[in-house]
Amino acid sequence: MLKPVIADPKVTRRILKSFGLHASRRLGQNFLTDAAVVRGIVAAAEVVPGDRVLEIGPGIGTLTQGLAEAGADVTAVEIDKKLPAVLAQTLAGYENVRVVPGDILKTDIPALMGPEPFKVVANLPYYITTPILLALLEQRLPIRRIVTMVQWEVAERMTAPPGGRDYGALSVAVQYHTEPQVAFSVSPRCFLPSPAVESAVMDCVVRETPAVDVSDEKLFFQVVRASFAQRRKTLSNALRVMGLSRDAVNGALSRAEIDPLRRGETLSLGEFARLTETIRDARTKGE
Ligand code: SAM
Repeated sequence: MLKPVIADPKVTRRILKSFGLHASRRLGQNFLTDAAVVRGIVAAAEVVPGDRVLEIGPGIGTLTQGLAEAGADVTAVEIDKKLPAVLAQTLAGYENVRVVPGDILKTDIPALMGPEPFKVVANLPYYITTPILLALLEQRLPIRRIVTMVQWEVAERMTAPPGGRDYGALSVAVQYHTEPQVAFSVSPRCFLPSPAVESAVMDCVVRETPAVDVSDEKLFFQVVRASFAQRRKTLSNALRVMGLSRDAVNGALSRAEIDPLRRGETLSLGEFARLTETIRDARTKGE
């Protein structure tokens, strides 16, 4: 279909002006204006005709158009009440796009997307990147791949190895469920308005089985959260919030072969998994 490419500064300005729109900072609206970036995201997600794609925050339809042109069946959830009317015009003629008004964090995604596998492709609003990613991962949806624009600093956290400042609960959750990698970096100049930070497109292929074996996933993430909640504390102290005595915590750490003086940020996914099992045993024994 021959439609003007929205990913262009002039076209974007014209659309915003003709609808009397101003990018909302509160809603994290930084519209893409670079067609090469849109092509890059579509390529990173390896979109093929017939792919089912959930897009979060279509804005004025910039990335949506790239996905639709690649033949995806796009479901795009947008919180800004003004935008569905705009999208009806900017994406007029694309039969393979469904715009759903609403907040992605309050959307019943299983009801929306059904049981068949799908991909998530989005230029995420930066003010809620982490809650969105965690919600997508924790719900055990049939997602095969998550390809998203995030701020560079979040990309570093998603891929961080144990031991550094960037490694935290988000790193563990993303690496437990997916194989994350930076597809490419994106300059602030590729957006209107320009964000204050560099960005990156993250490509997270969802694992068929999680990276480590745990018998109680809920407890695993409780242990992870407790370990990072007070990063400066040793594990022996930090894990007390799990409702166990100091002896029980130290016993669990010792059985998991983890030095109680270590801090949570040094533990690998495998060590968190081992610790979850020994904490589970301690709880079962009522220690
Ligand atoms: N996809 C467009 C693009 O690439 O130009 C817009 C991306 S902009 C960074 C983020 C979009 O997410 C905005 O359209 C914003 O209104 C929308 N948004 C913000 N919070 C949202 C939420 N909770 N649920 C759904 N969409 C949201």
